[in-house]
Amino acid sequence: MSIFDFTLEELEDYLVKNGFKKYNATQIIEWIYEKKVYDFNKMSNLSKKLISFLNENIRIEKLEVLQVEKSPLANKYLLRLNDNNKIECVLMNHDYGYSLCVSSQVGCNMGCSFCESGRLKKVRDLTLGELVSEVISVRDYEGVRIDSIVVMGIGEPFDNFINIKRFISVVTNNKMVGIGQRHLTISTCGLVPKIYEFADLETGVNLAISLHAPNNEIRDRIMKVNKAYKIEEVMAALDYYISKTNRRVTIEYIMLEGINDSDECARELSNLVKGKLMYVNLIPYNETSNFTMKRSNDFKIKSFYDILKSNNVNVTIRKEMGGNLSAACGQLRANAERL
Ligand code: SAH
Repeated sequence: MSIFDFTLEELEDYLVKNGFKKYNATQIIEWIYEKKVYDFNKMSNLSKKLISFLNENIRIEKLEVLQVEKSPLANKYLLRLNDNNKIECVLMNHDYGYSLCVSSQVGCNMGCSFCESGRLKKVRDLTLGELVSEVISVRDYEGVRIDSIVVMGIGEPFDNFINIKRFISVVTNNKMVGIGQRHLTISTCGLVPKIYEFADLETGVNLAISLHAPNNEIRDRIMKVNKAYKIEEVMAALDYYISKTNRRVTIEYIMLEGINDSDECARELSNLVKGKLMYVNLIPYNETSNFTMKRSNDFKIKSFYDILKSNNVNVTIRKEMGGNLSAACGQLRANAERL
């Protein structure tokens, strides 16, 4: 068991069950998260008995950084898990601060036809400890303050919902990672029942949806999940999320040449989101050698953007931050594993 495997409440329960005091949990958490002391023996306000209990039962373990790819705006990290599986994290340097993109699973079962992570099937979910260690490991490796986190790396976070809920608790607890709810974003390909559950948590955590198509015909072709949950069901779940939280939803839309980038698609997409508390983020596709799909050209992206704008849709074109990195989701891991 790693110290990063506990929410605050879980650590309190665990210590109490083992004959220690509830407040010991807060003391330990302060050493770890605030003072960055990763050695129980140096936690001077803990009893000897507690220190030896911790040494016997709990590890303080960060993830080994196996490889780093650097570019001016983004660094990509290949991290090693205890069982030798590998995952990726991307640290982006925005003008408002550092944002970290974390993985939620080893591989992914959603099988989107354009995505490297999905080409490599899910091996397993990440544990809470591994999710939190991604943040702590990259933060300490670079010695930077991370201002926001997006769960947009390898994996489908809502397919690892229990740990994502616990991750939200650790990340947003100001005694722990201490990132405000509004600075945390979870991205899903649209697992509808989990969108409802997420809404019912009534947190201020942001939700992003990988829509990528304006109708079922196109979405069926590129996203396997659409066979289970149709666009209408996804949109209804988003309406529910908005009614519960009053938070703006991000609609992610990858621009794929000749597949979803026509003027007609732009008009259909406008009709889907118009008048709703949503904004569209157009994402230039990151080509990878394992798929034949191409990125729409800049002209096409701009005209798609203009149609959305003229329909009063809030829209931005995602800045490409890691063009020279193996930045397509899962690409660095795939290369490293020769998968
Ligand atoms: N499973 C979640 C989160 C991980 S994917 C989800 O689907 O939202 C994060 C985002 O990157 C998704 O929008 C995904 O569709 C997109 N993506 C995957 N491969 C990409 C590529 N090669 N270029 C650009 N975006 C990509």
